[in-house]
Amino acid sequence: MRRGLPALLGLLVLQFACRAQVQAPGADVLLITVDTLRPDYIHAYGFPLEITPSMDALAARGVLFENAIAAATLTAPAHASIMTSRYVREHSVGSRNGDTRLEGLPTLAEHFAEAGYETAAFISNVVLRRRMGLDRGFETYDDELPAQEQNRDRYFERFAEATARRALAWLGGRSPGKPIFLWLHLQDPHGPYTPPPGWSGKVDRVPLKLQSDLVVLSENFGRAGIPFYQALGEMRDPALYAARYAEEIQYADHWAGQVISAVEKRSGERGSVILLTADHGESLGENGWFFQHGQSTSPELARVPFIVAAPGLVPGRIAGPVSHVDIAPTLLALAGLPGLPGASGRPLRAQLRGEEVPEDRLIFCDTDGESAAYGSGAWTRIAGSDLSDRADGPGRPTQSETARLGAGGEWRPAELDSRAFRGLVDYLERRVPRVLAGPMAPEHIEELRALGYEAPLESDIEGREPSTDPGS
Ligand SMILES: [Zn+2]
Repeated sequence: MRRGLPALLGLLVLQFACRAQVQAPGADVLLITVDTLRPDYIHAYGFPLEITPSMDALAARGVLFENAIAAATLTAPAHASIMTSRYVREHSVGSRNGDTRLEGLPTLAEHFAEAGYETAAFISNVVLRRRMGLDRGFETYDDELPAQEQNRDRYFERFAEATARRALAWLGGRSPGKPIFLWLHLQDPHGPYTPPPGWSGKVDRVPLKLQSDLVVLSENFGRAGIPFYQALGEMRDPALYAARYAEEIQYADHWAGQVISAVEKRSGERGSVILLTADHGESLGENGWFFQHGQSTSPELARVPFIVAAPGLVPGRIAGPVSHVDIAPTLLALAGLPGLPGASGRPLRAQLRGEEVPEDRLIFCDTDGESAAYGSGAWTRIAGSDLSDRADGPGRPTQSETARLGAGGEWRPAELDSRAFRGLVDYLERRVPRVLAGPMAPEHIEELRALGYEAPLESDIEGREPSTDPGS
């Protein structure tokens, strides 16, 4: 016993040291969200081609979460959940995309700003503009969107190089004394899949299950065809669309890497905490849906990459489910700051030391008319036409089902998971009233007109039904 005691004490000290190390008070913090990025198109997640060296390098020295679940399969609600650590039914954006506003909850950026961090965001998608309320807590919120992709007459975005260069310029102007919280949002993998010159043609074909040519739909939404805005000239082969999608990811990865390097160089001994994720995935033929998102909570839309690198963590992989709502608590905990009050997520400290997620954890994912609970290897959803997140009630579910992940990676119908179903019914009772974003700022209307486009009318925004256009 006597001889064993010092060894035991040594082990305890070592354990304590390990635990204490997964924290970096005063570290620089970089959050990267890549729009519409499926994890299975990242090499570190199993994509056969090495198109993502920056993300792979991050994963090699960080913790990769194999089953991270988006809070929503649409851009604005997913980002609102990332910034507040609340699920979609708990914030004022709800599952609407681009016409509701985040209000009334403390945000991740506010907490960093209050703690003395310099805060900045560089975004690339029109539904993240400052009128959506995601700018709160950011001293700099750069939402200039000068680019327009083909087939889109009203959506504006910014390509990765332009967004990243703005972020790099901002980084270059910071004094070394104060820590930073930087949010970089890159839009490129979002359709239409049009990589810029120099990036197109790098990937030959990415075979999908369906090998025959597709038709082009007359709408921007629908099954068994290419949504109108996604059509690339005369191209109809789905494998070529998947290749262009992969090239957009390769392009975004390059510019994400530039910003990661610049943050790390600046941080030096203070260290940096870096978290990379996506807002949602993309359907590439699953259930007959092509090149769309937002239509369901299904796994190809809900699964997102989630990679964390920070001083002192134990590099590895975690299989259990985690959520967008864990991002804010995790970043704050790593920076040694208190969490957001009332948060639905949890700091993933134990997972950054290699501990698995508790087996019984349920994670929620929403889109308009559908809510889901993800547990370990199971997806349970409740859907119904009157299940929209209206202020007047959760509606009556018309369909509920469970699918389980098979050994071959396929989701198969299974007996309804009663625990997940009960959890979901309880979740449907959480309903924060939606807040409409209101009319566009005059300068944005002028900006649209200057570019030769018709600006949306106020009545368009105020009276509009929840968007079914997954294109934003
Ligand atoms: Zn998105």
